[in-house]
Amino acid sequence: MTWYEPTETERAHLRRCVDLAAEALADGDEPFGSVLVSASGEVLFEDRNRVKDGDNTRHPEFEIARWAAANVPESERADATVFTSGEHCAMCSAAHAWVGLGRIVYASSTEQLGGWLREFGADPAPIRPLAINEVAPDVPVAGPVQEFADEIKELHRTR
Ligand SMILES: [Zn+2]
Repeated sequence: MTWYEPTETERAHLRRCVDLAAEALADGDEPFGSVLVSASGEVLFEDRNRVKDGDNTRHPEFEIARWAAANVPESERADATVFTSGEHCAMCSAAHAWVGLGRIVYASSTEQLGGWLREFGADPAPIRPLAINEVAPDVPVAGPVQEFADEIKELHRTR
């Protein structure tokens, strides 16, 4: 696995994503968090996983795509970046690409998550563990980031 070395600004956005993931876990949801950042560096929107009430599509990356479709002009979406604690699943990768959002920076990968869940004996996801670029080949991606790996693994262990 090749680790990505984030800039200080990227690291701060990823830190917020991991904190949102911890917040989700503390509230009974799965530990995932994401933020949408404009080309000028402004945080436009953030969310965390909200599946505990039975709607398993309520992933933060999906919420970001729908929020962007409603609130970000089409011409500005490709220059916006989504930071996320865990790489987009196939559903969220598709939504991201359909609304025309830009780069994705993830703290942990789908491959890492799959390995952790197997190690913990957790139920596997009901969809194939595709990388973002297997679903959305033109989206620029960066990740995973080594310094967050242990912390995110522990969040999933306790979920
Ligand atoms: Zn998803």
